[in-house]
Formats: sequence, structure tokens, C-alpha cells
Amino acid sequence: MRIAKTKSLTFRLTVWYIVILGLLVSASGAFLYQGFRTSLLDEMDRSLREIAYRVNSFWQRTRGTSWADAIRRAEEEFRRQEPFILVVELSEDEGARIENVYGSGRFAKDAFLFELETYKGAEDASWDKAPILNWNGRALAGSPLRVVFLPARGDHIIQVGLSLGYVSGELRRLTLILVLAGLLLLLFASFGGSFIIRKALRPVRSVVETARRISADDLGLRIDAPKRKDEIGELVATINDMIARLDGSVNKIRKFSGDVSHELRTPLTIIRGEIEVVLRKERREKEYRATLDSVLEETYHMEKIIEDLLFLSRIEAVRKTRFDQEVPLSDILARVRESRAPAAKTKQVGLEMGACLDLLVLGDRTLLERLVANLVDNAIRYTPSGGRVELSCEDRDGRAALAVRDTGIGIPEESLPFIFDRFYVVDPSRSKESGGSGLGLSIVKSVAEIHGAAIQVESQLGAGTVFRVVFP
Ligand code: ADP
Repeated sequence: MRIAKTKSLTFRLTVWYIVILGLLVSASGAFLYQGFRTSLLDEMDRSLREIAYRVNSFWQRTRGTSWADAIRRAEEEFRRQEPFILVVELSEDEGARIENVYGSGRFAKDAFLFELETYKGAEDASWDKAPILNWNGRALAGSPLRVVFLPARGDHIIQVGLSLGYVSGELRRLTLILVLAGLLLLLFASFGGSFIIRKALRPVRSVVETARRISADDLGLRIDAPKRKDEIGELVATINDMIARLDGSVNKIRKFSGDVSHELRTPLTIIRGEIEVVLRKERREKEYRATLDSVLEETYHMEKIIEDLLFLSRIEAVRKTRFDQEVPLSDILARVRESRAPAAKTKQVGLEMGACLDLLVLGDRTLLERLVANLVDNAIRYTPSGGRVELSCEDRDGRAALAVRDTGIGIPEESLPFIFDRFYVVDPSRSKESGGSGLGLSIVKSVAEIHGAAIQVESQLGAGTVFRVVFP
């Protein structure tokens, strides 16, 4: 499967990265813009006050200087900033009207005159809190003006305006620089970001490619990613572990089906051989009968194998079940003893019930009976006449346990690790002649496993064997 470019993790992570970075860059740009604007206006307000202050001091310093002269001198001094200056005199009787307006004549006075209210508002203001406003006097300066109103002696208001053209020009320049720098930063960041993300995700590609090549026939493959102790490293290790487990399971299944075919082919070969021999010429009835007996025996054997295999696969199917029924161990042992008593009697082996406490285990009665029956069958099978088999149950460190003890031939120590494997038999000739299929203990193990129980074996060659199943 190919992933569409826009759906790929690299693409989506890069987009997120750019969006978040873009937001951050815009926020810092806005912050910078606002700070710069405030400081430009502060500087301008200082200039406005300074000019007004100069007008006032020119007027005060020399007796007889008219306001028009003072304004002209200030205009001269601050020529570069091209200030617009007016002095407005309010009438003495509570300032209800404008008495006089003084200017230098540089521009028409009424073009820069405000409402009476504005001047009355400025009349009582202190110098550092004087009203300042932005005024759209484009006709005067070609751009809006920032105007300050400062009270002077004798109901005079000094009004100074400066063009905001400089401030807006600077702000426009700053905006342009910020936008360009921001775009450039985003461009580089998106290249850098997508490079880093792609580099970080590169092992994922190798995971995908190897996983694609792995099939049931090729489970030896492993993903080789750099030994990194991060999430990707963990993912690779987990997948490799999973492949190893699958590999193990597939090998087990392969070996198992090989074993099954082998186990079933042997009796079939025997059956065919016997029939072929007997058909070669005319025989007496006794010979036919002997052959049919032998064929029947092989058929029983095959039937047993198939029945055990079916049972095993049924157990595999209920592996995940949780048991909620309590079963008394003594009941199970008693029922198995009863059903196996005839076989024990035939073989002249004593089958006895030993000590058994009142113990309950969570489990399935039929499966547990099968487990005990298989252990008892083995015990009878591998115990010579005159021997003894004993069933018991006990409390082992607070855990319920059942035991099947015999005085039989015992199991060689080197065989102990394998006796629970499917089709493993210690002595093939003896096992077969006594009706064993090599699956009995596999069934015991599977039933124990789904009950969460552990199996312990103690055996001494020639002296006997104890199988103990310890429940959780
Ligand atoms: P089988 O059907 O051949 O008995 P099992 O899986 O039940 O197969 O047992 C595996 C092997 O373990 C047997 O071939 C036998 O040699 C050995 N074994 C099992 N139980 C006993 C026992 N109680 N005493 C001696 N040997 C035993």
C-alpha cells in the first residue's frame, strides 16, 4: 500500500510544525510592532511637549514678546519637524468662548482650530497629563496629526501638532521587514523541520519494507534499525520479538504436522503390508483372522491418535476461557479410580486412593478427569504386575495439588525435559505395545496450562514416578 503524500506522517507533522511556528512568529511580530509603535508615539509626545514648552518660555522670557513671535521662534527652532503651532486664548469669564487665536501665519488658523470643548478640557490639565489626540488633518500636513494642548498663563492654550507621517512610514517599513523575515523563517523552518521529521521517521520505512518482505516462509528476517533507545527502537524490538515468536510457532506447527503424518503413516504402512502379504496366495481362515486382528489393532491405534489430536485442538480453542465452577478434587480422583479399576485389575496393579483433603479447584470437570485419567493410564501402563498406583490430594503451601504415584519402571533423567512434547516416547516399542500414542502427557500439560496449574515430576528408574499437578 502506498500512502498518499498528503496523508503521510511526515507531511502532517511538517504542516503542524509550520502552523504552530507561524502562530508563534505572528504573535511575536505583533508584539514587536506594538512595542515599536508605542515607543515611536512616546518619542513624538515628548517632542510635542518640548515644542509647546519652548513656545511658552519664549513668550515668558522677554517682556513684550507677542505670541506670534514666540510661535515663529519655535517654528524656526524645530524647523526640521515642521510643527503646527497655535495659541488659543479663552475669554476670562469662565472661558465660554474663544477670545483670540495666535499663529505665525504659516497656515490658516481656522484650518487647525478645534471645538471650544477641547480647549476647555485642556484648561486645567497639568503639563505632564495634557490631552493628546490624533487628528485627521490631512488638508494641513498630508497625513493625520498628533496634537497636544497645554495650558499657559492667562487662559491661553498652546496647541502643537506634528505630522504622523513619519511614525506610519516607520511602522510600514517595520511591517514589511517583519512579514518578509517571518516568511523566510517559515520557509527555512519548514525545510529544516521536514528534514528532521523525515530523518526521525526513516527507521519506520525500514520497518515497513522488512515487514513487507516477511512471509511465513521467510520468518528468519529481522528488521535492522539502529539500536536506539527511543520509541522507534522499542517498536522495532517489539516487532522483532513478535516475528521470533511467530517463527517459533510456525516451526512448531510444521514439526507437528510432520510428526502427525509420520505417526499415521506407520500404522497405515503396517496395515498395507499385512494385507498385501495375506492376499499373495490362498490362505486358511486362521491366517485371515490373524491378519484382520492385527489390522484392527492398528486401526485402534490410529483412532486413538486422531481422537487425542482432536482433543488437543479443542483444548487450544478454549485456552482463553475463565472457569467459574468449583470442582472437588476428591470427586475427580474417585471417578477416575472407578473407571480405571478394571484395567488395573487386568494388569494386576493395585489402584488405591490415598489421603485426600476436601479441596476445591476452579475448573472444568471433564477436562480435569481426562488429565487424571491420562496420568493413571500411564502409571498402570508403565508399572509391572504386582505394583501399586496411588491417587492423593494435598495442600502444598496453601495451593491445592493432586498426585499420581506409581511403583513402576520410572523415567530416565535425560528424558524428563521431553516427556510432555507431542509424540515423544521414551521407549517406542514398549509404548506402542501398551497402547500409548505419545500424546497423553501433551494433553495433561495443555489441560494443566488452561487451568493455570503447574506440573511437577519426580522419578527414579526402577522405583517409580510421582506426577503432581499444583493448582494456582
Ligand atoms: P504414551 O502415550 O506413549 O504413554 P505420554 O505422552 O503419555 O505417551 O508419555 C510420554 C512418555 O513418558 C512415555 O513414552 C513413557 O515412556 C513416559 N512415561 C509417562 N508416564 C510414565 C510413568 N508413570 N512411568 C514411566 N514412564 C512414563
